[in-house]
Amino acid sequence: MTELKKPEPLKGVKGMNDTFSPESARWEWLEAHMRDLLRLYGYRNVRTPMVEPTALFVRGIGEVTDIVEKEMYTFTDKLNGDELALRPEITAGLVRAVIEHNALYDGPLRLWSIGPVFRHERPQKGRYRQFYQLDVEAMGFAGPDVDAELILLTRALWRRLGLKEGVDIRLELNSLGEPAERAAHRAALVAYLEQHQEQLDADARRRLHTNPLRVLDTKNPALQEMVEAAPQLLDFLGEESLAHLQSVRAVLDGAGLAYTINPRLVRGLDYYNRTVFEWVTPHLGSQATVCGGGRYDGLIAQLGGKGAPAVGFGLGMERLLLLLEALNLVPSEDAPDAYAVVPEVAELPQIFPVLENLRAAGLSVQMHAGGGSMKSQFKRANSSGARYALIFGGDELSRGEVTVKPLREDGAAQFSRPLAEVAHWALQLRTA
Ligand code: ATP
Ligand code: MG
Repeated sequence: MTELKKPEPLKGVKGMNDTFSPESARWEWLEAHMRDLLRLYGYRNVRTPMVEPTALFVRGIGEVTDIVEKEMYTFTDKLNGDELALRPEITAGLVRAVIEHNALYDGPLRLWSIGPVFRHERPQKGRYRQFYQLDVEAMGFAGPDVDAELILLTRALWRRLGLKEGVDIRLELNSLGEPAERAAHRAALVAYLEQHQEQLDADARRRLHTNPLRVLDTKNPALQEMVEAAPQLLDFLGEESLAHLQSVRAVLDGAGLAYTINPRLVRGLDYYNRTVFEWVTPHLGSQATVCGGGRYDGLIAQLGGKGAPAVGFGLGMERLLLLLEALNLVPSEDAPDAYAVVPEVAELPQIFPVLENLRAAGLSVQMHAGGGSMKSQFKRANSSGARYALIFGGDELSRGEVTVKPLREDGAAQFSRPLAEVAHWALQLRTA
């Protein structure tokens, strides 16, 4: 007989993660907070595809950006030759969808979406090739009021999660002005960078004439001092842009939200104008930005829609979770309330309806499946993390009762409860 060779197990793609319990429960917990908060602010959920035409991101994010130049997963659709990309961010796809469905026709929109995005980066803690973003967008609003609303919404999220603002996470704010103001600044910046040409690295040299603002976004420590002394866009802002920034600041000040103006904050995508902001943390090393966003008044028209102003932000879910874990602010458990021990498989037809009633009453019950000795069932009950074992023995059942055994309190005695009054005590167990 020929022996079958055991096949090599296949591995997942590098930089793309599998998430099991209890970590997955933290995701659900975090997403639930986000959903609830977004509802309180009147934002509505929207879902768009993970694959879009490559041209959407090239046009939207900008040709001379890290994302489009080096990080985007693109492929040719084998069946029809279309050039497609896994979305590297959510905004451009949402804008595409809003244009395609004429969704701004009835007035402005407040939207949010959570989902995976893809960037080919060197994987490390807080930096992955598939990661999740919460994306929140307000489209059709021109004023600083919505800019401030979005920033305060993020602060409300930190507060809910127990993050201390100014300590665990702090706000940086800047204005990128309007296209004409940027053009004037650009000319001054190019002249300055040309003077320092011999210092520039390859990326910076290439971007000097294609996208000089991006040079300010460099992560190269050798360039920091030089870019810090570069001409600042803030000094080129006209009256209206300054007034816009002032109004955002007035709301933040009024709300007691401390921030720093960072004149070098330019964001990694080309579509921003006026307000830009980032929330950064000291706890995650060089993966410091948890959330970033800003106004993009030109993008909708640039992607072929009827011009409309907009503002939004993207939040890195993994980074936020890492931060919350580092500060011990996440729920540690993912356990059912109770584990049902089933001594006799033959009793199952009588047990199932009771389990259904317990669940209908809000008690989470994990049923032992597959039979086995009491000893092995109790072992499973313990490792499930449940607070109680419910023992559905034949004697108890014939008396119309179930035995409840506390699993996590030392020395606590077991007790019986009537099967006929499940709704009564299920809630007590759950909240005990
Ligand atoms: P960074 O400067 O760290 O590369 P970015 O400016 O490229 O961030 P954005 O495009 O603004 O990031 O994306 C919004 C958020 O998504 C970031 O603030 C961050 O929290 C998260 N993020 C970005 N890239 C990654 C990644 N590769 N892995 C995990 N999270 C990421
Ligand atoms: Mg990046």
